[in-house]
Amino acid sequence: MEPVIVLLGPPGSGKGTQGKRLGHATLATGDLLREAIAGGTELGRRAREYTERGDLVPDDVVAGVLRDAFGDLGDGPVVLDGFPRTVAQAEALEEVLDEHGRRLAAALVIDVPDDEVVERISRRQDDRADDDPGTVRNRLRVYHERTEPLIAFYADRGLLHRVDGTGDPDDVAERVRRSLA
Ligand code: AMP
Repeated sequence: MEPVIVLLGPPGSGKGTQGKRLGHATLATGDLLREAIAGGTELGRRAREYTERGDLVPDDVVAGVLRDAFGDLGDGPVVLDGFPRTVAQAEALEEVLDEHGRRLAAALVIDVPDDEVVERISRRQDDRADDDPGTVRNRLRVYHERTEPLIAFYADRGLLHRVDGTGDPDDVAERVRRSLA
């Protein structure tokens, strides 16, 4: 069975960068939500107030996004960037994977300290509405409160992998490769 891999880590930890380097189909809920907001869809209209504040979009909304997008992916290996972010989403993911006859192969945490996150995001030039320092602080708080419990969730299932996300992106990629090998 082709692997499905979940990437966890704070904002700015390099999930997108490292996920792409794995060379598999990637599904990033943040990208899908930004597209919906830019396109002015009903989903975008519902998601906008949350993303602008750096809060999580409600679980049922984003689980629907995941379910729809997952159906379009085919049977190859898949990397999920930014989903799940809560235990309820992790449970929804198990359901979606079951429906597709797939199972999670690994949950990889990319660890980066808060101070470095703030510093990295202040340097990046993505022109994201949620990259101002106050919103980044909220996104970090939300990560620690709501997403970090997934580390225990996946450790319990024997799926947890963890790498140091600091330093050169090539070095991080090598750590990721070794951790998942
Ligand atoms: P990201 O690009 O992954 O940093 O996501 C940007 C924003 O989209 C987040 O701060 C949330 O507001 C929203 N978002 C993305 N993925 C999720 C998710 N799995 N659950 C809830 N909100 C999400």
